[in-house]
Amino acid sequence: MAQSSFRFAMPKAVRITGRSSSITNSFVNGIVPVIRPSDAEIDEALEVLGMSAEVVCAYCGDRATEWDHLRPLVQNQRPTGYIHEIHNLVPARGKCNQSKGNKHWREWMFGPARLSPRTREVPDIEARSEALERYEAWTRPTQVDFAGTVGEELWEQHWANHRALLRQMRTAEEVVKQIRARITAGVEEGVEPRLIGDPD
Ligand SMILES: [Zn+2]
Repeated sequence: MAQSSFRFAMPKAVRITGRSSSITNSFVNGIVPVIRPSDAEIDEALEVLGMSAEVVCAYCGDRATEWDHLRPLVQNQRPTGYIHEIHNLVPARGKCNQSKGNKHWREWMFGPARLSPRTREVPDIEARSEALERYEAWTRPTQVDFAGTVGEELWEQHWANHRALLRQMRTAEEVVKQIRARITAGVEEGVEPRLIGDPD
């Protein structure tokens, strides 16, 4: 048996600023309303997609594992105005959803991404994109004017909170670095670190 080349891997130090993108995501996604569809609406959606008999990925026809946002909720770290609602959701395979990301569905379907339907040579790609066009024509998804709805003051306060939190995380990370550097220097220079229980 071939010997594994794996010998050692240093665990990575956690960085506070490494959480920035999930914080930003919470600020954007957290304000998007979730509108639960009725059973009748789900039936109608599936009918428009031609999936009354079997629910499959709208992009490639494989087994569907979730419902994906046809139009992205987020662009340039701000809400696009589209929300979690049946008119903006289609059944999808998790891998298709991840590969599509925030791209427009058509650009992604016919684009060069490694897992795009074009790249995977999905045979009925044309019929699938026509079904998605019908779906878009079925009812226009809601596009909310967030700032206009809640007012400038509350809107600005939200993004000021976001900036302040990121700033605080950078400040905290600087303190983390200083603490780590001092402890590391002590250990590397053979200086015993203070241990818990040492007398003052
Ligand atoms: Zn798919």
